[in-house]
Amino acid sequence: HISKLPNVETTIFSVMSKLAKKHDAINLSQGFPDFGSDQKLIDLVCKAMNSGYNQYAPMAGNQELREAIAKKIELLYGSIYHPENEITITAGATQAIFTIINTFVKPNDEVIIFRPAYDSYQPAVTINGGKTISIQLKAPSFSVDWVEVKQKVNSRTRMIIINTPHNPSGTVFSKSDMLKLQEITRNTNIIVLSDEVYEHMIYDGEKHQSACLFPDLKSRSFVVASFCKTFHNTGWRIGYCCAPKELMKAFMQLHQFNVFCVHHPTQKGIADYMQNPKHYLDLPEFYQKKRDLFLNLIKDSRFKFTPSKGTYFQVLEYSEITQEYDVDLAKKLTIESGIASIPLSVFNDDNLDNKVLRFCFAKTDETLKKAADILNTI
Ligand code: GLN
Repeated sequence: HISKLPNVETTIFSVMSKLAKKHDAINLSQGFPDFGSDQKLIDLVCKAMNSGYNQYAPMAGNQELREAIAKKIELLYGSIYHPENEITITAGATQAIFTIINTFVKPNDEVIIFRPAYDSYQPAVTINGGKTISIQLKAPSFSVDWVEVKQKVNSRTRMIIINTPHNPSGTVFSKSDMLKLQEITRNTNIIVLSDEVYEHMIYDGEKHQSACLFPDLKSRSFVVASFCKTFHNTGWRIGYCCAPKELMKAFMQLHQFNVFCVHHPTQKGIADYMQNPKHYLDLPEFYQKKRDLFLNLIKDSRFKFTPSKGTYFQVLEYSEITQEYDVDLAKKLTIESGIASIPLSVFNDDNLDNKVLRFCFAKTDETLKKAADILNTI
């Protein structure tokens, strides 16, 4: 093999989006909005370009943006990160995740992940010689068995990766989940990678339980976040991570030789845009409306569901409709019915198939109506 990851196939997100395009299907597979980013934000990025923000930003990112992030985290979670050395702007959350794993995971280290797991975690661990230890979230509620987590933690455990709100299931970790994680990791050298890219998409009045809310957990955690998700521009590839300064210092050793810094005018534009907290505080309501509309439109379909608690994804269970393998069904629905989704088995060990498909509801009301019309006929 010429590659260091011989068994890794093309990510399901590219596969399904390509198939959707080929067959002109409604694309509720890969998670991205089909509506535009706020024109005000676009104008601010253009303004930054026109006013000279066209050379390197500092390695950790534009100072004003790091300050805006620190302010946001304090406002939402009452937690303090120092903009000088505890916050770094990255090329999307994906680059933050890859660099965190690359910085800390050595050969034979164990990394605990919860399945179904977002597909970028395992390859990053494998390429560093680490071993992922899977813990299956229990369908249909996708809850965590913390006794199992405790049993699987040992002296080789280097990292635990959590993701709340959780992609693909749409579940969220409760305060009690986070407290259990804090207890299990207390007095260990375990680093927690907390993927919180859907922090602003949380519903029914629930509060997002960021790792930074729990002091002992915060002391060992990287919190990873995404502007692309928050501000509806997944193509901009911009996100950030926060961690206590010793951890961030280690991260920077790699970050400086990976991307050095990311697109500067976008950083300045987002910094200006974030001066108005409404731009992120209004998001849960915005997305809850979409979720509610989508679920209301498909309530009489043959799919089974419990409402998504977070993320912009809704999982639908289809075992009463067909016993087909979820990957086959997702492809068939794209080609024959004109609607694309993501099969969950690709995120599980041994492609465990719970007969569940994931649909993205970050779409215009019109798209959601068209999608529902199709789903109601299946
Ligand atoms: N996070 C997006 C999703 O879950 C996909 C991102 C990507 O395609 N790399 O759909």
